[in-house]
Amino acid sequence: MTPKFFKRLTGTALALTLLLTGCAPAPEPVSRDLFAMGTFLSLSAYGGQAQPAVDRAADLVTQLDNQLSVTREGSEIWAVNEAQGAWTQVSQRTFDLIRDALELCRVTDGALDITTYPAVRAWGFTTDEHRVPSPEELAGLAARIDYTAVELDPATHSVRLPEGMMLDLGAVAKGWAGDQLSALMEEDGISSAMLYLGGNIQTVGAKPDGSNWKVGIQDPSGPEGASLAAVEVSDQAVVTSGGYQRFFEQDGQVYWHIMDPDTAAPARSGVLSATIVGGRGLTCDALSTALFVMGADRAARLWRDHPELEFEYVLVLEDGSLQISQGLEQGFKLLSPYQDRKVTVISHDERG
Ligand code: ADP
Ligand code: MG
Repeated sequence: MTPKFFKRLTGTALALTLLLTGCAPAPEPVSRDLFAMGTFLSLSAYGGQAQPAVDRAADLVTQLDNQLSVTREGSEIWAVNEAQGAWTQVSQRTFDLIRDALELCRVTDGALDITTYPAVRAWGFTTDEHRVPSPEELAGLAARIDYTAVELDPATHSVRLPEGMMLDLGAVAKGWAGDQLSALMEEDGISSAMLYLGGNIQTVGAKPDGSNWKVGIQDPSGPEGASLAAVEVSDQAVVTSGGYQRFFEQDGQVYWHIMDPDTAAPARSGVLSATIVGGRGLTCDALSTALFVMGADRAARLWRDHPELEFEYVLVLEDGSLQISQGLEQGFKLLSPYQDRKVTVISHDERG
């Protein structure tokens, strides 16, 4: 059974806004919409200092995009990828991000792999000239995906990749940017803000009235903007990865942009979307991609075995059912007309 897929751009942002503004009369936020990091962003903050804070945040995210873009000539990541096996010095900030991302590749046992880019490119996701590579080509690509081959030199904050390999922070950059932006907002005295970064939500504090933000989770098989469920959060990130976000169809098959690093092909794990809730945007973004690749059983094991990652999750599975980790039980709600969906709560005790 092939679910219906819909392209999403700003619809999710609109649905979220509805959820966020639906309840009480609240002060109006200062908002700024922009395109950066290959996607639509909407930055909203409350309070007297909101305008300069939002403007500074918009400048910062544009600057981060310039440093981290894999496709922009002259970006730091572009320079690493062009270095043909030589060491490349990057900014301390980018170095720290690569180091932390590699740690998340390790902890997810390579389900997240920031050297997946040659596969993403071979499938045409970078140019929209989509194609299905041959099995031989895929085997060759898979052999070149290996985050353990990335070398780091902390003394000079330099990075080295074997020739033929490429770095791509696409799976983690928006979540990490959310962390940087929320830190900047706090520095600017903002205690209430909601940052939408193309499918990622980063909240700063609670809503101005002190209540939690309600963030919608897109129905991966439904029309753009249709929220299947909502989670209540404050001071947290909510990040979703789904096959419905970027995909193409060929000969009745759907191929999406999240790859299984072992096969260099779109990951088919039985998960239609993975949503992560947690205090750190980088971790949430890394894990949303990783859990999509891992599937339900490996996801539950990762959550049980790594409490230090401090995350909760929601999986929407191919049969329409959901799995949520226990810590989310309180703040999670199915929305109409999805109330009859089966929801399994994953507990710490495997037998529970
Ligand atoms: P999105 O950026 O669409 O919100 P993700 O955070 O899941 O979704 O990131 C997907 C992007 O990460 C892809 O477009 C690709 O550039 C890259 N990517 C795809 N598969 C992987 C993977 N297994 N590990 C790391 N990066 C990946
Ligand atoms: Mg991600």
